[in-house]
Amino acid sequence: MNEYWLIQILGFLLSIAASYLIFKLWPRSGKMGINTNTVHCPCCGTKAPMFRIPKNLKQLLWGGWSCQKCGCEFDKYGNKLDDRT
Ligand SMILES: [Zn+2]
Repeated sequence: MNEYWLIQILGFLLSIAASYLIFKLWPRSGKMGINTNTVHCPCCGTKAPMFRIPKNLKQLLWGGWSCQKCGCEFDKYGNKLDDRT
């Protein structure tokens, strides 16, 4: 009876540890990365909006913004994108 209780607690702790590890080890760069920092436009310094409306498929898939002020395109890390590629 007590063992069952112990297993439940252990399972609970393990799931917390697993989520913590996934969060810690998740890449902070690259296309699948998550950037939790505030992003500013590399051209004019305007703060990117927290909620974005994707302008094209690329932005929908990988994130990124088009600056409302100067129209500069940049990714979720604030790196300027070159559309000629
Ligand atoms: Zn800008």
